[in-house]
Amino acid sequence: MVAVLRRGTTLAQRENLIHWFEDMGLKVHVSEGDYQCILGLIGDTSKVDIDLLEGLSIIESVKRITEPFKNANRQFHGEDSVLDISGRKIGGGHFLMIAGPCSVESEEQIICVANRVKAAGADLLRGGAFKPRTSPYDFQGLHGDGLRLLSLAKKATGLPIVTEIMNINDLPLFEDVDVIQVGARNMQNFDLLRELGRTDKVILVKRGLANTLKELLMSVEYVMSGGNERVILCERGIRTFETYTRNTLDLSAVPMLHELTHLPVIVDPSHATGKARLVEPMALAAAAAGADGLMIEVHNDPPHALCDGAQSLTPDQYDVLAGKVRKVREALQ
Ligand code: PEP
Ligand code: MN
Repeated sequence: MVAVLRRGTTLAQRENLIHWFEDMGLKVHVSEGDYQCILGLIGDTSKVDIDLLEGLSIIESVKRITEPFKNANRQFHGEDSVLDISGRKIGGGHFLMIAGPCSVESEEQIICVANRVKAAGADLLRGGAFKPRTSPYDFQGLHGDGLRLLSLAKKATGLPIVTEIMNINDLPLFEDVDVIQVGARNMQNFDLLRELGRTDKVILVKRGLANTLKELLMSVEYVMSGGNERVILCERGIRTFETYTRNTLDLSAVPMLHELTHLPVIVDPSHATGKARLVEPMALAAAAAGADGLMIEVHNDPPHALCDGAQSLTPDQYDVLAGKVRKVREALQ
């Protein structure tokens, strides 16, 4: 981090500031020009409050040279991270297809969808048991029963399972879960992230509805700084002024995140668009943009789905999509 001092800063003020940095464990390199004095801060500057610093009367400007996310940062970990999820790999050229219903509704439903997406080549089964719904009157998920049904589907198909956690108190119920999802609405639930950092599960963190990529990376940092480095990021669309689509898919997030972090990045075109007919084109675009995987909602009977039917593909539609995704991936190689 570099701090430029205003002209007219006295020696005493400068020394005061230097001591303040040194008290934070930083080394300070002073470079004095004819017109400007620049302080170079060496060490872990992630604890420096940049807004506080910029607010000081003797500071002209401040610039971070390295990003405040350390564990996720590609600068300190040049190679792509490759995660192994019960035998399925993601990252570093390994691509993961996650498919399944928005929410687990019944044994018949989840087993049917699991079998169909497996036949279409899916690697992991998704299904919500704890649903973050905007209205408290909407279907909230089957909770513990939903997790039990997911386990049954896992046993029946051999597909590892992905499901969302909303409350850390429910963690004991997630023992058989392979990937724990932190949904968009909980991306900045820092207590939840911190606790998940103490587990040995793969954590899938979805981008918040109105969060920057830096905020997403800082959220991931909460998990990683707790010791759990097995994290996947998910772009799922952000809020903009557009209303024809449920959200606006920010596909540039994929190559941008790949520059910034070594962690795998997947795309969820279902929540990004909210419309089943838009899922395939956006899935293909995501694969072409270099995503490490896709998460897609599939339902055996979308018109009667208890949640997100409008954006859910039928198993047949998913089968077609998966074939086209494979072709895009082949074309890229
Ligand atoms: C989900 O994947 O089921 C979900 C609720 O997505 P998001 O958190 O992205 O809205
Ligand atoms: Mn959904």
